[in-house]
Amino acid sequence: MPEIITIVGGGLAGLTLGIGLRQRGVPVTVWEAGIYPRHRVCGEVISGGGQRSLARLELLSRLQRAETCPAQSVAFFARKTQVPVRALPEAALCVSRYILDDWLAHEFQRLGGELRSGVRWTGDFGQGIVRAGGRRAQPNANGWRLFGLKAHARGVELDADLEMHFVPSGYVGLCRQAGGEVNICGLFRSEAAVPDLAKRWRDWLGGPADSVLHSRLAAAQWEEKSFCSVAGICLHPQRATQWTECCVGDALTMIPPVTGNGMSMAFESAELAIEPLARFSRGDLTWSQAQQEIARDCDRQFTRRLRWATWLQWALFQPRVCAALLRVATRTEWFWRVVFERTR
Ligand SMILES: Cc1cc2nc3c(=O)[nH]c(=O)nc-3n(C[C@H](O)[C@H](O)[C@H](O)COP(=O)(O)OP(=O)(O)OC[C@H]3O[C@@H](n4cnc5c(N)ncnc54)[C@H](O)[C@@H]3O)c2cc1C
Repeated sequence: MPEIITIVGGGLAGLTLGIGLRQRGVPVTVWEAGIYPRHRVCGEVISGGGQRSLARLELLSRLQRAETCPAQSVAFFARKTQVPVRALPEAALCVSRYILDDWLAHEFQRLGGELRSGVRWTGDFGQGIVRAGGRRAQPNANGWRLFGLKAHARGVELDADLEMHFVPSGYVGLCRQAGGEVNICGLFRSEAAVPDLAKRWRDWLGGPADSVLHSRLAAAQWEEKSFCSVAGICLHPQRATQWTECCVGDALTMIPPVTGNGMSMAFESAELAIEPLARFSRGDLTWSQAQQEIARDCDRQFTRRLRWATWLQWALFQPRVCAALLRVATRTEWFWRVVFERTR
């Protein structure tokens, strides 16, 4: 009898891993505290190797036929600087998390996986149990509280498929979604606790009054129900080999959202975990061997991009450095292409 794999967390990493294991006939149960469909704080842009992981798992072309749209161009804005619209070196895929997580959950169940949604796992993470529960909350990092906000809106015109707006307290990404909506998602930092976020989220996402972002969103018709927020974000890079548990996705480490690569890392880490876990389930590897193989492969794949992303995140929160980087990106395409390639 093959060993059952239990996956704690039915987000992107957990469901993708569950699908890959079911494709190999491994018995899998996914525990998910939330329910589907639901909105998640996310820029909703899949950029980088995650699309190739989805293709290898034979999910990409079917997902593209669901409500997705490609992103081919990007533009960057700060208060006084606008980098000309650039072609993305590799097309990205825009998809609402409301659609994506639900689509993956259905696919997992279609393949015979057992999904326990609306139930929180409270047990240990021993043999056969994978931690895919997303970010590990941390109240503050170096005295700063990092939090994310997202909402969909209609009536927002963009210059490019993706826009990144740098504001004094963080950055806000805008991307077109299938069906004419635009996703507006920001990462912000604050030294003090932020009161009334549930009422004031439009002010945070809307940027300073004299910014391009502000004028972009002046006529926005917000989809109130799509608003969500997340706090306690930790962007300190972690190595997989430091964990004693088997981890995938944000539970392993979180890459700064400015890269638009977190979903990719969830898909990629899930893909790396499939084969060792299938061998464990068949009895060809011990749990410790499977866990170590996954951790080594994840570190090999992610360490360099995490280093670059951490540097980029730091630079973007230094107003002068951020302005200088944008000036360089205005004059040359080379710089932005290097940063794009190194952070994925
Ligand atoms: C502001 C912001 C913007 C972002 N923008 C982008 C972007 O544009 N592109 C991109 O690629 N990435 C982006 N990301 C990152 C991306 O959202 C994450 O990397 C991705 O969601 C990670 O997937 P995951 O499956 O690891 O975690 P999650 O999607 O968080 O899923 C984890 C799941 O585990 C469940 N769970 C947790 N604990 C338990 C438990 N004990 N029992 C049962 N269930 C449990 C949770 O309910 C959750 O559903 C952004 C993140 C933020 C904060």
